[in-house]
Amino acid sequence: QYAIAQADLAKVEAAVQNGQVRAEVGQYTNYAAYQAQGGYALLKECMSGQRELENVLQTMEDSGLRGLGGAGFPAGRKWRIVGAEAGPRLMAVNIDEGEPGTFKDRFYLERDPHRFLEGMLIAAWAVGIADIYIYLRDEYHACRTLLEQELASLIANTPIPNLPTIHLRRGAGAYICGEESAMIESIEGKRGIPRLRPPYVAQVGLFGRPTLEHNFETLFWVRDILEKGGTWFSAQGRNGRKGLRSFSVSGRVKNPGVKLAPAGVTIQELIDEYCGGMADGEVFYAYLPGGASGGILPASMNTIPLDFDTLQPYGCFIGSAAVVVMSERDSAVNAARNLMHFFQHESCGQCTPCRVGTAKASVLIAQDQWDLPLLAELSTVMRDASICGLGQAAPNPVDCVVKYFPHELHATHK
Ligand code: SF4
Repeated sequence: QYAIAQADLAKVEAAVQNGQVRAEVGQYTNYAAYQAQGGYALLKECMSGQRELENVLQTMEDSGLRGLGGAGFPAGRKWRIVGAEAGPRLMAVNIDEGEPGTFKDRFYLERDPHRFLEGMLIAAWAVGIADIYIYLRDEYHACRTLLEQELASLIANTPIPNLPTIHLRRGAGAYICGEESAMIESIEGKRGIPRLRPPYVAQVGLFGRPTLEHNFETLFWVRDILEKGGTWFSAQGRNGRKGLRSFSVSGRVKNPGVKLAPAGVTIQELIDEYCGGMADGEVFYAYLPGGASGGILPASMNTIPLDFDTLQPYGCFIGSAAVVVMSERDSAVNAARNLMHFFQHESCGQCTPCRVGTAKASVLIAQDQWDLPLLAELSTVMRDASICGLGQAAPNPVDCVVKYFPHELHATHK
């Protein structure tokens, strides 16, 4: 199996080097093509003073663009906060994309890498960044080759003088390194474990410097927003929400994949309008609205707008918008077991409520009969006392099963 994987990898890397990229991806926009389409003109406008900094910051704020890695912090406000800190300031770009079910960053990176790089350089200009560190998921071998190639073209034919130094760093497969402060530890060459906050990375981040941290996709939208206007982006929502979201949809739908849809779309609308309905013979039963830690909801709760802040009342969240659709052939109990096992494996082990809690919860929910009072107590401890989001959110799937799928517990697991 390993030999086959290596052979495939060699083929993929050869295809990237020949400019073909992967068969399923098709053509991507390289540096020359991106420039021919007007790429980097906006960056030049910014650098030459034709586009004023205040105008850029205000447009970003008007757009309502929020951090699309999952945290949802307003991007324009973050630029102002970090820009107000004393220099030198650094930037860290998160392309670790380790959330189960999430593949939107790779999707865009493989197609239009310079749209992201231009957004990154505009952000760096707006905030006054000295050095940029891109942290790329190690499993994205082909993306690394592609990015190395496109960065080399960019540096060799730089569209602007004084290009910040861009460092491309590889992750090493740890889920926790998608958490911004653990990623920063990893970039610094240390074990990737989350930091206690405050201080926040905007003040004390990479190598102790104020750091602008962004997910890949957040930067991918910068050019469109600045060219089309902040209200172009904010006017896109549905059901009272604002903006666009790239949903990574997987599971038992007819056409899974990355679906660019209005923020606030419901799961039913997403399945029917964007995924061609359920796969043949499948009946919609449940869904994960936000990857591993975003909880599990039943099909009957199919009218909730999917966006930041809308799912909290139900004990769920959207995170990086990884939606997994389950059918009546699936079981929420089994999903919760699988997810808790994942958290147990990926816990960095730094704090006891998460390290021990995920292990205890895995054992408890593997039983045929669930000890509900003990599980509730364990969830409370993990939520209240874990250092980072992994431990705090790990009980979500289990709590959702207890709340929304009691029939499964009554049928076989009581
Ligand atoms: Fe590590 Fe888990 Fe504690 Fe986060 S909550 S710091 S992953 S042990």
